[in-house]
Amino acid sequence: MTEKAFDVMVVGSCMTDMVSQTPRLPKAGETIHGFKFFIGFGGKGANQCIQAARLGARTTMVCKVGKDVFGDNYIQNFKDNGVHTDFVGQTPDAATGTASIIVNNAGENAIVIVAGANMLLDSVDLQEALPAITRSKVLVCQLEINPQISLQALRMAQKNKVKTIFNPAPASPDLDPEFYTASDVFCCNESEAEMLTGSVVTNVEEARGAAQELLKRGCKSVIITLGPQGCVVVQAQESTSKHVPTTAVKAIDTTGAGDSFIGALAFYMAHYPTMALEEMTYRANQVAGVSVQAVGTQTSFPIRAGLPADLF
Ligand code: ADP
Repeated sequence: MTEKAFDVMVVGSCMTDMVSQTPRLPKAGETIHGFKFFIGFGGKGANQCIQAARLGARTTMVCKVGKDVFGDNYIQNFKDNGVHTDFVGQTPDAATGTASIIVNNAGENAIVIVAGANMLLDSVDLQEALPAITRSKVLVCQLEINPQISLQALRMAQKNKVKTIFNPAPASPDLDPEFYTASDVFCCNESEAEMLTGSVVTNVEEARGAAQELLKRGCKSVIITLGPQGCVVVQAQESTSKHVPTTAVKAIDTTGAGDSFIGALAFYMAHYPTMALEEMTYRANQVAGVSVQAVGTQTSFPIRAGLPADLF
């Protein structure tokens, strides 16, 4: 059993992205030729963990992969990024999670996600990680594993006075209301906010309204990310919401921008616990803004050494 202390623990998903670029999407029953194929590391949980690690957080990942080559490669990817892997389980009962992605020349895509081993992460795995949860500063969860396991992890963290960040992604209209009270920071994007509140969220004003609505459900603070417009932040102890703008950049590939933002936020919450949330989100905007200027998901996430010193 490890006695290590961690800045950031992520309880969540790992997915292997298998991306084929094709002139057009195939029809049912059709075989077509693509012109490029690549494999990437993805999954919201792992993405967020890797971004936090690249900024210098001591990170640990609680997840499940298959006893297969994708699982072996994923564990190596965590190690290469300095993520602690004692709580990465390998199961013979399901394959490592995969996202098979077809992207056509118009940038449209068709995606099949098979969550596989991610869905086998269970309460026993959480119990094994409990001593490490108690020695973590921030715990982060999303919805790409069994939601009840995410909720249980958040509750275990809260009980041990570990700060919690919950990212309700992928969005689900029937989110268990207990997720709100289990979240110190409830962080989502515009479309997730829209699905959860039932109101349109396309600009800063609408995001302010949605953030207030989500706050009322019991979280301590709400962040709604707004792409090139930064984010909106609202906290229970302050009644007014704040828009935290960012410098809009020309995006090359926005895949994983939200994960880069959340990973950065987790790093700041762990390293600068007394910093104002607004300042943390200002800095997380800068980190995520860098990630959209390079292709890929984790491949686009910046490392600390490549960022301006005033972000640290
Ligand atoms: P998601 O990836 O979940 O859709 P967003 O599109 O809201 O999330 O992006 C997350 C964060 O990434 C934003 O809050 C912002 O900080 C940054 N970001 C995204 N697109 C841009 C952009 N074009 N210019 C600058 N920052 C961006």
